[in-house]
Formats: sequence, structure tokens, C-alpha cells
Amino acid sequence: MRILVAGGAGYIGSHTCLVLLEAGHEVIVADNLCNSKEESLRRVQQLTGKPILFYPVDVTEEAAVEKIFQEQHIDGVIHFAGLKAVGESVEQPVRYYYNNVVSTLTLCKVMKRHGVNKFVFSSSATVYGENAIPFVETMQLLPTTNPYGETKVMSERILTDVAAVEPDWSVALLRYFNPIGAHPSGRIGEDPQGIPNNLMPYVTQVASGKRERLRVWGNDYPTVDGTGVRDYIHVMDLAEGHVRALEKLCEEKGVLVYNLGTGHGVSVLQLVHAFEKANDLTIPYDICPRRAGDIAEFYADASKAERELGWKAARTIEDMCRDSWNWQRQNPQGYEV
Ligand code: NAD
Ligand code: UDP
Repeated sequence: MRILVAGGAGYIGSHTCLVLLEAGHEVIVADNLCNSKEESLRRVQQLTGKPILFYPVDVTEEAAVEKIFQEQHIDGVIHFAGLKAVGESVEQPVRYYYNNVVSTLTLCKVMKRHGVNKFVFSSSATVYGENAIPFVETMQLLPTTNPYGETKVMSERILTDVAAVEPDWSVALLRYFNPIGAHPSGRIGEDPQGIPNNLMPYVTQVASGKRERLRVWGNDYPTVDGTGVRDYIHVMDLAEGHVRALEKLCEEKGVLVYNLGTGHGVSVLQLVHAFEKANDLTIPYDICPRRAGDIAEFYADASKAERELGWKAARTIEDMCRDSWNWQRQNPQGYEV
């Protein structure tokens, strides 16, 4: 298939482009590079020996998206083109709602005009809010407490409503848990701008000496060791999940919702110790007060994706820690060369 990957130069997008190309699909990327570098796409092409057609466009701009669909035959769309910093979304709600919701609407509009009816959407476990764990796809969604989360709920809703009136459409809403890790080559990986918010990029920057000490946000949660628990998933497993979902959309119409997680919770300190062990390093840390808005613990019920997609996360926490460090070690300045 010929797939338009919106946001394909980013962290999850670049790994998914690689897996798509290796599976024999053709890839067209639309990305405005607001949180990424074109270098990621150059490296994906190097690793696979296959070309990517790149459009440096903002997918909220209808004319620019229309031009892509006029110039290229497209069989399906994967939409990664979102802004994703939770704290920033609280400070800049208009920018977040506009970017994340209008991008979804624009893609839907242009796809409909061109008779393209397969849509894979990057959603997030955040849509579950503070539900009971493990999170199951059938749960009623609860408020997410920040504009970022609401943009995911809104986009899911938009796509569900569109699919309800377009009998030929098939939509996959993929709810990611916590992606970490990198391609084992260390050539592509996560390249956060500025001080990382997320745990793993912070840990790798402490390991490299770029940051002094990790701050562990709270050790008084009702969890195994008091620190926050998440379901970390290797980005390569996540990327493979997208290709399986896309293939499923060729067989089934309507809206398909899948958790993409491992089904296992890992605490902050468990992750830090696994990182130290896998890489033979020490990560100095301080215990600090809780971070506002954090949930104590969540992980996926990952059984639906296994049942219906035949997909199951295969890589271990050790793999994730090794590959994250391998990427950071080889690229201390990210894609900046
Ligand atoms: P990322 O920032 O690395 O990738 C997003 C890409 O989209 C970037 O290359 C950015 O330049 C591009 N982009 C953003 N807005 C755009 C626009 N209007 N037009 C064109 N390009 C645009 O983030 P990621 O971690 O790869 O996340 C991809 C998607 O997955 C996002 O929608 C994010 O919300 C979602 N998600 C991420 C996580 C996570 O922890 N990384 C978890 C759950 C969901
Ligand atoms: N965390 C931490 N220090 C950091 C970054 C994160 O202790 O510098 C904790 C955070 O409180 C949470 C877990 O690590 O319990 C995962 O945080 P992340 O931001 O990576 O993911 P999210 O909370 O968005 O699921």
C-alpha cells in the first residue's frame, strides 16, 4: 500500500516508516518539522535502502494536504502529527486544540474528497483518565485533566462519527501506553527538544552527563515501591502494531480500538534499576514531591490487540533500556550533527 504518514519525521512516526518500508509498503511523509528533523527520514532511508517522499507541510493547512492527495495515489493515512507535551498544552490550549484537532479534521476532509478510507490514529492511554487498572478498550472514558488529553478524546470522537456515516471507512484508534527505546541500530530514536519531560529521555541524559541527577516525582504512591507505575512499550513493538492495524483495516470496516501496551506495569525505580543493570551504569537520583497531574499507576489490558491483530509486544524492559542508551550514546545531540 501507499501510506501517507502525517508526522512521520517524529519519534514514533520515523520508526513506523521504517517498519512500513520493511514490510513492503510505500511511504509518503507530511511533517512541518515543528518537533523533529528531516535527518530522521534520511536515516530511515539509509537503514532500509528505500525512498520516502517528503512533503514539508503543516497538515492543518487544507490546501497543502489537498496538493499531496492530488499528486500522490494514497491508500491509507497514519496520523502522528500532534503536539504532545502535557504541561505545554495547559499553558497553550488554543495551539494544542487547533493543531491536534484541526489536523484530524483536515485529513478527514481531504481523504473523503479523494475516496481514501483507511485511517490509523495515534491516541493515548490518557483518554482513560483515572479509570481502574488495567485499562480496557470497553471502558467509559473519564476526563483527562489537560488539553492534550482532550484533543485525543475529541479526535477519537470525530473519527468515530465520520466512520458512522461513511460505510466504506475503517478507522483504528490506537491507544499507546509509554513508548521508549529506539531502533537497535541506534540510528533513529527520540530527540526531545530542551529539557525532557518524560522519564526515559531524562534518564539517558543523566547517563550521558548532560543532566546531573534524575528527579523522581514522588515515592508515596500506593504502588509497589511508592513511585509511579507505567506500561513502557518498545517503540519498535509499537511501530509493528501500526502495520498490523493497517492490515486489519483492509479486512474490516468501522472503528477498531486497540491498546498498544505490554500489559505490565513498571515503577520509576524499577525502570532506573533495569537501566543501570542493562547498561552497567549508575543513575544518581533524588526523591522529589509528586508532579501535578500524575496518576499513581496505569497499564494496559493488551489482550484485544493480541486476539484480533495477532500482535503482542515482544521486547523486554532490558531491550528498551539498552536501545534507548545505544541511541543516546551514539547521538548525544540527537539529530543535530
Ligand atoms: P513527535 O513530536 O516526535 O512526532 C510528532 C510529529 O508530528 C513531529 O515530527 C512534528 O514535527 C509533527 N507535527 C506536529 N504537528 C504537525 C502539523 N500540524 N503538521 C505536520 N506535522 C506536524 O511525537 P511522537 O512521540 O512521535 O508522537 C506521535 C503521536 O503519538 C502524537 O500524536 C502523540 O500525541 C501520540 N502519542 C505519543 C506518546 C508518547 O509518549 N510519545 C504517547 C501517546 C500518544
Ligand atoms: N518521572 C519522574 N521523573 C522525571 C520524569 C518522569 O519521576 O523526570 C515519573 C513520572 O512521575 C511518572 C513516570 O516517571 O510516574 C512516567 O512519566 P512520563 O512523563 O515519562 O510519562 P507519563 O506520566 O506521561 O505517563
